[in-house]
Amino acid sequence: MITLLTDIADKILEHSRESYPHECCGLLAGKSAGDGAEKVVSEVHRMTNTNHERAGDRFEIDPRELLKAEKAMKLRGLDILGFYHSHPDHPARPSDFDRQRGWPEYSYIIVAVKGGVETEMTCWTFNSFDEPFRQEDIVAEG
Ligand SMILES: [Zn+2]
Repeated sequence: MITLLTDIADKILEHSRESYPHECCGLLAGKSAGDGAEKVVSEVHRMTNTNHERAGDRFEIDPRELLKAEKAMKLRGLDILGFYHSHPDHPARPSDFDRQRGWPEYSYIIVAVKGGVETEMTCWTFNSFDEPFRQEDIVAEG
């Protein structure tokens, strides 16, 4: 289960709408409990999608930008819990590419955006590389 505090869901949706028709991406930061099974997201950080050739259906994060954001979070005692990205004119289901690029135990929030308006927000995770994605419940607080 992943809990999104106060305005986190709004921030993710706003970024997804603004980036349309391109994919947006960002980091989910916060704390986890119960061996990582319960995640509480208290911050999101926008990342630049550096995949320009296929910005409509792929995203790539600059590792330097990621490292910088991670350091800033660690200073405040937060961990990276996962990532969010948008699917312009596609369902909020992870693609094969998403699975290949995913890391175990992180949460992957996907926002479907149709014609510039969000239609669905889902979250996905997997425990080990030989497992498929399974859906994770999202609880929005505040
Ligand atoms: Zn995707």
